[in-house]
Amino acid sequence: MLDADFFRRWMTMTAASVEREAERLTALDSPIGDADHGSNLLRGFRAVTVALDKESPDTPGAVLILAGRQLISTVGGASGPLYGTLLRRTGKALGEAAEVDEAKFAEAFRTGVDAVMTLGGAAPGDKTMIDALVPALDALGAGFTAARAAAEEGALATTPLQARKGRASYLGERSIGHQDPGATSSALLVAALAEAHG
Ligand code: ADP
Ligand code: MG
Ligand code: MG
Repeated sequence: MLDADFFRRWMTMTAASVEREAERLTALDSPIGDADHGSNLLRGFRAVTVALDKESPDTPGAVLILAGRQLISTVGGASGPLYGTLLRRTGKALGEAAEVDEAKFAEAFRTGVDAVMTLGGAAPGDKTMIDALVPALDALGAGFTAARAAAEEGALATTPLQARKGRASYLGERSIGHQDPGATSSALLVAALAEAHG
């Protein structure tokens, strides 16, 4: 079973991974964006860490709702509202249970990913975070480690795609040949899920 501590670990491990990878995320956002993806997520996940320490939410749902709210309020870029929505909507779907099983989490995460697609209008193949999140979701039934591998593969597979959403889409065909920063950070988020599971 997955309890509030597990979800807190997921968030703090994502924050640690964003600290390590921020420069690379910003570098990926340089040729096809505005070179701020790493700094956006650093600001957001630092705020998540502070809020979780201060408020110590005690259910899985409350942890993710609090984290999502921090991302929405502290990140200026597109990724803030999108990741914020992912976590908030996943958290809402988890309800008020003190513990959830993996099947319940997978179902809630689907609600979250669907909300991101509704908010941002992106579908798989548009060269966005969706290209890592949807494969992860589809692999989640086989476990967190499988989801991690699928997300990483999905992020790598964005390189040959032409962007159809977000800033990178302004470049048209010139967006081809670069890995999407948001798909890359989504793979970090899913990797942290596998790490938190241990
Ligand atoms: P901004 O583009 O506003 O500077 P970030 O650099 O933080 O924001 O995030 C860029 C990432 O956000 C992109 O690499 C892409 O994965 C994701 N993204 C942008 N627009 C959308 C969208 N409409 N739907 C899903 N993901 C998106
Ligand atoms: Mg950017
Ligand atoms: Mg920006």
